[in-house]
Amino acid sequence: MANEEAGPEAAGPERRDGPDGTRRQLLGLGGGATLLALLGAPSALAAPHRRLAAPATIGRARPPKPLVMLDPGHGGKDPGAIGVSGTYEKHIAEAAASELQTMLMRSGRYRVAMTRGRDIFIPLEDRVAIAEGKQAALFISMHADALHDHGVRGASVYTLSTGASDAQTAALANTENSADRFAGPRFHGTSPDVQRILASLVREETRTGSARMAGNVVRSFRPSGIGLLTNPSRHAAFVVLKAADIPSVLVEMGFMSNRLDEAALRQASHRTVVASAMMRAVDGFFAGGSAYTGLQG
Ligand SMILES: [Zn+2]
Repeated sequence: MANEEAGPEAAGPERRDGPDGTRRQLLGLGGGATLLALLGAPSALAAPHRRLAAPATIGRARPPKPLVMLDPGHGGKDPGAIGVSGTYEKHIAEAAASELQTMLMRSGRYRVAMTRGRDIFIPLEDRVAIAEGKQAALFISMHADALHDHGVRGASVYTLSTGASDAQTAALANTENSADRFAGPRFHGTSPDVQRILASLVREETRTGSARMAGNVVRSFRPSGIGLLTNPSRHAAFVVLKAADIPSVLVEMGFMSNRLDEAALRQASHRTVVASAMMRAVDGFFAGGSAYTGLQG
């Protein structure tokens, strides 16, 4: 299993054994690993009676701080949307993600990784794979796309669904998606029936977490004075949100197609306001418990 990669001995002395540390460790686990442990998949079978009460057993596979994966949209040969006065979305996305990365790191509460830290092209499915490979606890894709209607402005946040919440979002997803491959979770060593149940539970846990994070973003943007679309929380089949076991949101910080949004996002001070609001949303996500707790009834 993938979660056996981390060196348990090296991680041991740094474990946090207090109640809070325990919770952080559990939150740091991807949904798949958590459920596998809960439901007695092979890695947990060695200590079946201790698997829920032994965070050390689970925690030694992961460092204590949850990993937040930031995904600046586009990059390299893909500029993303080009603003009405020529701003490239890829540059705005990278600047805002870097700002958020700095804030999250400074808090000391998280590990942070970026799908890209420079101006390079990364296919959407590779971004998902990067997050999966690093076993991220949360995935945040940051964008500032364009709409046909240049009058539309404001931030919005998107979660995954097979159908789009509205035509505008469907068009946005079509623009964003360059591929439609979906690699589902794999649970080696379990029967097909158990695999199906595990996959279903993981997806539900991920869906719940994604929705909670989207709600957090909207709630933290409002008091920051960041304008929001009328229905700011939307959903569609964005490829980059398809990690099966990582709560994922795509944040449109505004639209390059709107002159006012573009002008605001060009300002470092505005991007700081956005990043601060995003950080509060992340804090809320990890402070508010997880679907792990909910699954225990
Ligand atoms: Zn974009």
